[in-house]
Amino acid sequence: MTHTSFVNDRYANAPGSPIRELKRFTELPGMISLAGGYPAPELMDSGGLQKIFSSLSGTAFASALEYGGTEGAIALRTELARLSSSRGNAVEPGEVLTLSGSQQGIDLLARTLLSQGDTVLVEAPTYPAAISAFRFAGAAIHQVATDDEGLVLEDLERALIRLKPKVLYTVPTFGNPSGRTLSEGRRRELLKLAVRHQCLVIEDDPYGDLWFDQAPPPSIYSMRNTVDGAERVVAYLSSLSKTLAPGLRLGWMLGPAELRRACVLAKQTDDMHASTLTQAAAAAYLAQGLFSENLPRLRATYGKRAKALARALSLQLGKRIEFTAPGGGMFVWGRAPGVDTAEWLKAAIERSVLFVPGSAFYAQDADHSTFRLSFASQDEAGIATGVSRLEEALRAL
Ligand code: PMP
Repeated sequence: MTHTSFVNDRYANAPGSPIRELKRFTELPGMISLAGGYPAPELMDSGGLQKIFSSLSGTAFASALEYGGTEGAIALRTELARLSSSRGNAVEPGEVLTLSGSQQGIDLLARTLLSQGDTVLVEAPTYPAAISAFRFAGAAIHQVATDDEGLVLEDLERALIRLKPKVLYTVPTFGNPSGRTLSEGRRRELLKLAVRHQCLVIEDDPYGDLWFDQAPPPSIYSMRNTVDGAERVVAYLSSLSKTLAPGLRLGWMLGPAELRRACVLAKQTDDMHASTLTQAAAAAYLAQGLFSENLPRLRATYGKRAKALARALSLQLGKRIEFTAPGGGMFVWGRAPGVDTAEWLKAAIERSVLFVPGSAFYAQDADHSTFRLSFASQDEAGIATGVSRLEEALRAL
């Protein structure tokens, strides 16, 4: 008897997320993972969150167990608007769309903006789950070159003229995977290009709060009033995953009203609303000032870890690799000329260390000699041991 597959073509043969597939190795004893962008568990304020959860009681607790509005609970939208405004993204609570993680924002925007065959521009390299969301939405994906300052605007302009894309997806601040930050000058020029070519910019910003020594340039979204006609060409996504806890599954979207409205409709058939329980807890946590209290600790620790990784890489692998040391976020991006990093990963797993080969971060024409390392969830000793193991693995190839 033959079996029919009921799965449609878009999903039947699609690859899974290579980063999520690596997760099973992280549980092996003694494994040092420099792979996922997972916040360090010891830096999450689990004690503070636990207290907040247990303080939810009476009618507040009962309503946190009920269905909620699709846009999100007003208490959390108020806090997210306050947080956004303090970062230069001045908005009212009513302009915040609460998401079940910023990943959902990428997916909702892909579904509401794109028709079959529309073109989306992404950075090379970029965040793989965004590539997948755009692919599932039927888009044609085209890569734009990047350098140490982020998107190369000459390449972007050529692509805008030639391909007439509907959307540009960018992670301009401490990018995943590149760790790079688009300069303020380029942000302004990018906005002008987006207006001239009527291309919607999705600014994905889960890492902007995690700067080490110096705050990043203002968001592209916050600069939209400085360029004529730019109010309607930017959608902004951010998240509490990297700065509070990813298990809460909370993020938010800012953007033009009609876009947010379309995403609300798409969200109604998706999960209806983000968890009312975690929204209530996050709202109370933010309102009590605990979020801002914990941030300096995150910045300081991730900053030390980033420097420890850069130091260990220079010392132990400096002759074999090139890499960019980031000013914030969770990632170091590099190249090992002449090395297939997928092979390097196999040798690394045998030596109990994990990283992500760079090919996962390209929509096409992958550079197989690239790689991404995360310093977020290892302490400085773990980073030093991890890099020694990477060096041994590279020598064994
Ligand atoms: N965008 C980028 C660039 C990311 O790195 C991530 C998480 N790895 C997300 C979006 C999704 O994050 P979340 O859904 O947890 O907010």
